[in-house]
Amino acid sequence: MKEPVSRPPCKRCLTKEMPPDSFFQTMYQYIAELPPEVKTPQLQYEERLAQCKACDSLLNGMCRVCGCFVEMRAAAQKNHCPALHPKW
Ligand code: SF4
Repeated sequence: MKEPVSRPPCKRCLTKEMPPDSFFQTMYQYIAELPPEVKTPQLQYEERLAQCKACDSLLNGMCRVCGCFVEMRAAAQKNHCPALHPKW
């Protein structure tokens, strides 16, 4: 009998096509592997996320202003809060 082939998720898959937890694993891996010159310093990253946690626009880890996952957006130093009056 032939063994089923286990394949990694397609890099061009939509999140709905991925196994349940693989999207978040991919996001955490993306954040972990950002080059140091791109990555937000850890203390500043935590401060950004604290602002998001206190913000009414945070919903299920996503920013309702821009639709992104805030942990990913905040991880890149060049990014900023997309609100009309930016919080970080
Ligand atoms: S508006 Fe700014 S502070 Fe609020 S959730 Fe979005 S990124 Fe975070």
